[in-house]
Amino acid sequence: MMEQSSAHALCTIKPLPGIQQLKPYLPGKPIDELERELGISNIVKLASNENPNGPSPIALATAIQHLTELTRYPDGIGFYLKNALAHHLSIDTECLTLGNGSNDVLEMIARTFITSEDEVIFSEYAFAVYGLVTQALNAKSVMTKAKDWGHNLNAMLHAITEKTKIIFIANPNNPTGTYIPHHEIKAFLDQVPTHILVVFDEAYHEYQIQQDYQSALTWLNEFSNLIITRTFSKAYGLAALRVGYGISHPTIADYINRIRQPFNVNAIAQAVATAVLDDAFYLEQSIQHNATGLKMLTTGIEKLGLQYIPSVGNFMCIDFNQSAGNIYQALLQKGIIVRPVANYNMPNHLRVSVGTTEENQVFLNALEEVINDGVS
Ligand SMILES: *Cc1c(COP(=O)(O)O)cnc(C)c1O
Repeated sequence: MMEQSSAHALCTIKPLPGIQQLKPYLPGKPIDELERELGISNIVKLASNENPNGPSPIALATAIQHLTELTRYPDGIGFYLKNALAHHLSIDTECLTLGNGSNDVLEMIARTFITSEDEVIFSEYAFAVYGLVTQALNAKSVMTKAKDWGHNLNAMLHAITEKTKIIFIANPNNPTGTYIPHHEIKAFLDQVPTHILVVFDEAYHEYQIQQDYQSALTWLNEFSNLIITRTFSKAYGLAALRVGYGISHPTIADYINRIRQPFNVNAIAQAVATAVLDDAFYLEQSIQHNATGLKMLTTGIEKLGLQYIPSVGNFMCIDFNQSAGNIYQALLQKGIIVRPVANYNMPNHLRVSVGTTEENQVFLNALEEVINDGVS
């Protein structure tokens, strides 16, 4: 592959202005890649906030059952999935936009509403996709200062100008694992002018067990400028299938759906997502497992004398108080993949996802060895 590229003619074509500056999303290192590099097979990947429990038996059975439909195009409107979601969430189907992962929904929102003249507000340390979709459209990213690693909603209010079109809020946030208490959300929505869209990205919603957490969905009927995005990739354990959705005022959903690719959510994904909405057992296990796993990681990290950002996600950021690049590399050599977050301007942190009990232990043991070996 590499040798061939030198034979290509010189390319002088330039992309759109926003694309020229675009640095693509950096995913966690794939297991296969590290296997090839190290020639070993028992890799532990705690780098992408995936569900460590494997897919539910209901998900697997449903996927297999629908494989016979591979020759047919999927249902372009997602009839059954939208109906199941509407029922599950007690909302109208008209409020829904289905996406190829919630990432797709976030991108569609940007493409539906912003031009290069507009400004988009999001917080320091917020999920990387907000900046990427804004940059792709050559619009202006307005990044507000974080407060204790979390979103500072007052700073976001102060950043609003006549050009502001969208405010992206990750609640809880990835990679920091911080969340916004419900009373702050309502007060914030009350103060944002109604011509500005407020997007609450709730990718980790299902894991939330704190008393003072509440989904922004609570205020859907009150605010026509509110969009909530959710995903089947995390607590539902279906990251490979790529299914997410947006919830909004029907008029907003109608606009977004105009640019949606007709078959953006594949048939297997639609069928499996519909089925797992009824799989309360799997979800409950995921939530409980995550709470236990977070506690295990937290305790282990404290024992090692390390600092961390308290998290309500299925992951947490460890603070090494100095550049964490060498620790990341040393863990890789031991077959453990975590996530560097230097691209979030957090060079001293590494993000680790909650794994199985065994994976968590393997990670903690490896981290202890790395630290005892004096890697820094
Ligand atoms: C994982 C994640 C998503 C997107 O996941 P999809 O797989 O595209 O649904 C969105 N927002 C945040 C904050 C995430 O961490």
